[in-house]
Amino acid sequence: MSQQTTDLSTLNTQFESAYPQDVLRWSAETYGDDLAVVTSFQPTGIVTLHMLSEVAPETTVLTLDTGLLFPETYALMDELEALLDLRLIRIKPTLTVAQQAEAHGAELWKHDPDQCCNIRKTVPLSDALVGYEAWITGLRRDQSEGRQSTPIVSWDQKNQKVKLSPFATWTEEMIWTYIHAHELPYNTLHDRNYPTIGCYPCTQPVSPHEENKRAGRWVGHAKTECGIHVAAN
Ligand code: SF4
Repeated sequence: MSQQTTDLSTLNTQFESAYPQDVLRWSAETYGDDLAVVTSFQPTGIVTLHMLSEVAPETTVLTLDTGLLFPETYALMDELEALLDLRLIRIKPTLTVAQQAEAHGAELWKHDPDQCCNIRKTVPLSDALVGYEAWITGLRRDQSEGRQSTPIVSWDQKNQKVKLSPFATWTEEMIWTYIHAHELPYNTLHDRNYPTIGCYPCTQPVSPHEENKRAGRWVGHAKTECGIHVAAN
């Protein structure tokens, strides 16, 4: 185990009982301009951005504009950018949706969603993260089975950066309590049974009784993650 991994493991133990605001403050003080937060403007991302606007408002915000987001998501992005005065960078894939269809076939998400996510999300994000030392995500342990062991801080082997998930220990209820307490805007699709929201071709509403909040993503495929948060082999 490398020294850096050992240090991060010690830090992770300390952060287990820390308030996310303290983890965010530590991240900003430690990495300064080399820190970026990556968000798709889902509830945890909204809380992250609101806390960061108080402790480190200069932090760069990266979001993936796949060209396939819901109109409600674009509207929320604009609203929060203005409200919180975000330093927002909208990352776009090299190929437009039309160019992708020409190169790889129409509606690639239907026959090869992994390749589609790779082109429209994973590669553009990895490229955008070059030059940063650390990035903040909105991962939480209660979001899915695959995220149950999410550390608060870890080494992201794939991108060769420190990865922070300050809200790993928070529950969905805590996130919504914060959003309502601070009267923050959120994606109106959440009120129409979309617990998590990605690209419109790959996101469906779910039953209010569904326990797996990510059940509406990539329905009909074995896929559960876009690849951004899948560790490198
Ligand atoms: S979520 Fe769907 S449409 Fe969006 S990049 Fe992935 S496969 Fe393509």
